[in-house]
Formats: sequence, structure tokens, C-alpha cells
Amino acid sequence: MRRKILSEIFQRISGEEKFVTEVLSETIKRNSVNPTFGGPGEYERSMYIEGILKDFSPDVLKRIEVEDERVPEGVRVNILAFFKGMSDKTLWIIAHTDEVPEGDLNLWKTDPFKPVVKEGKVFGRGAEDNGHAIASMLLLAKIVNDIGVKPRLNIGLIFAADEEAGSNYGLKFILEKEKPFKKGDLILVPDAGSPKGDFIEIAEKSILWLKVTTVGKQTHASTPHKGVNAHRIGMKLALLMDEVLHSRFSLRDPLFDPAESTFEPTRKEENVGNINTIPGTDVIYFDCRILPQYNVDQVVEVVERTTKFVEETFKVKVRVEVVARSDAAPPTDPNSEVVIKLKEALEFARGIKARVGGIGGGTFAAYVRRMGFPVAVWSTVDGTAHQPNEYTKISNVIEDAKVFATLVYS
Ligand SMILES: [Zn+2]
Repeated sequence: MRRKILSEIFQRISGEEKFVTEVLSETIKRNSVNPTFGGPGEYERSMYIEGILKDFSPDVLKRIEVEDERVPEGVRVNILAFFKGMSDKTLWIIAHTDEVPEGDLNLWKTDPFKPVVKEGKVFGRGAEDNGHAIASMLLLAKIVNDIGVKPRLNIGLIFAADEEAGSNYGLKFILEKEKPFKKGDLILVPDAGSPKGDFIEIAEKSILWLKVTTVGKQTHASTPHKGVNAHRIGMKLALLMDEVLHSRFSLRDPLFDPAESTFEPTRKEENVGNINTIPGTDVIYFDCRILPQYNVDQVVEVVERTTKFVEETFKVKVRVEVVARSDAAPPTDPNSEVVIKLKEALEFARGIKARVGGIGGGTFAAYVRRMGFPVAVWSTVDGTAHQPNEYTKISNVIEDAKVFATLVYS
């Protein structure tokens, strides 16, 4: 009986290429760059999603607004839709509606905010991150409405704002004010994955961003002895930090890819604007992704000891600032119900044998895991998020919706 419904559902989902293309295109058209990065925010995109959901008559359709003076509407909008099933267990699927800026425009072959459909892919900023999830969730809602058969599980769909800049106007607020999840619910975050759809993320590393300022003494480049070249010492310090951090925190955990903690010098601020001045200040940044086996405080401590050594050796002042920090949440148990059910659904719907693992990126699964709920992060994506010429495959959206449908109907 269930099998029969599912095969009918799969057939219908396969026929929704046009719907998926339209949703992806309309999503991309609505620039939703996070206001923290100077963008307009996700208001227009959220309104579009709400409009589509209305057509599918959910049992609950809720707008959750959070005040934010930086956007013209004065509020950031989150959307929650709920479809009643035949039990009191709910499958929650969470997507984010904001996005990162386009980055260097010269690297784009097309306008990032004008969708281009080509060879089964839709190109544009936000196509994969997180338009892919938005489209597959709306497709699930459409099918549930079209087929008119109540799913076994309730379906809760959350379209949250502000994921790319800390989730204070999005999921964090929703978790605190709405408390939507119950013990025993299944929670999915389709915001990372693999091209084959065979990777289920259950753990994330801690994230630490550091700004390191070295202060020496500026002088004319012809008389370096009258100053202290902050740039030279800043470079030495960066290499020393690189070496010390990698050797001190060298543990490998094969659950993760890459298996070790990463410590990368990334951004470098410009110092002097001309060649013939000895720079008095040097500013570098480190992006650190730390295995959950280590405490982030340990890393900060090692950095401080290293900078102290450099201060004493080279007679400079060094200031270390933590620009961002997110301590790893406890990983989801690989034997938790959501992971097992998702593995079964992948095998049933697509013949995929999935593996579990951890990533260095951060998704909002971390907030949910911290509250003690198991979460699976999964989707079928080529990994073009935050890159120029971002795209997602229409067929992957369709295949992912089949997995969602299997979870709620079987
Ligand atoms: Zn994302």
C-alpha cells in the first residue's frame, strides 16, 4: 500500500522539472544578500516562498518577524509551514533564505542575480546555497497537496533568515521563541552534502577567526634602523603561528574531511600605500577549523603564548582579537533515528548506500545539536556554494524531494 503511494509520488515528483526550474529562477532573481554583508536581506524571497506555500494549503503557515533596523522593511522574515500527518511525530526540514554576496564579478560568466538555465542546471547566486533546499522543500509541499494523501509523519518546513551571519534574526530566534521541536522528531538540514547524495553530515568542527595586529615603528625605507618593520615581523609571526598550531593540534579524526584541524592565514590588510615606507602596522587574519576533541580556549592560549614570544624577541606589540568563534556542538549519534531513517530512505528511493562524517564548515545544525536534538545535514549538491558561477542541478532537487517524501510516507 505504502509502496504503491510512493511509486506514484516518485512519478509525480519526476514530472515537476518545470516547477523546480521556476522556483530556483524566482529565488535567484530576488537578491537576498545578508544585510551584514551590505545586502538588502531576504524579505522579497521570503514573501515569494510564503506565496507559493499558500497555494499548497498547509495546516499552519506562520510568519515569524524579527526587528532589524538595517533593512527597509524594518523586520527580517522567517516562514514556518506545517502539514499534519497521521502521527504526532514530525519531519522538520530547515533551509535558509539569505545568501552571501556575489564576490568578484569578473569571475562570473553570467549575472549572479539573473537566473540562467543551461544543461539541466540553474546558475545564479544562492542557487545551491540554499535555493536547492528551498526548491526541494516546496516541491515536497506541492506533492503532498496534489496527491491529497496525508503523510504518515507531520511535515514542518522552516525557511529561516540570517544563516550566513550568525542566525540571530533567524533560527536562533525561532528556537528560543517558538520551540518548534519535540523529542522524537526527525530534523534535517539540507545545507551541505555530496554530488552523489551519499554523504550524511553528523559533526562539525569548531570555527575560530582571529585578527592579529603587529605594531612596530614606521619610518623611511632608506633608514630601516630608525623604525621597526611590522610587516617583516608580521610575516614571521604568521609562519610561526602556522607551524605551532599545526604541530600542537595535530590529531586526525577520520570521521572528518579533511581529517585534521586546519589553521589558514587568509586575509591580509594593506599596510602602507607606497613602496618607500617601512610599515609600522601589520594586520593578518587566520581561519581556524578545530576538531571537536580540542577546546577552542586551548588554541587561543597557544596563539597568545606564540605572540608573546614574538613580542619579546622582536620588540613589537601584538594584539590578538577573536573576530568570530563557534564552538563545535556535540556530534549527532550515527545510530540516531534520523540518520538511520535517512540511510534507509536513500537506499529505497535511490539505491544509495550513504556514509556519515564531519565537515569543517558550519551550518545551523550546530544550534539544534546544542539543544540536544539529533540532526542530519544532507543534500545532493556539487559544492558550488559561495563560489562564482554557483549552480544547482534540477535533477538533484527532484531526487532529494523523493527522499523527503520517502521519509514522511513510509
Ligand atoms: Zn548555506
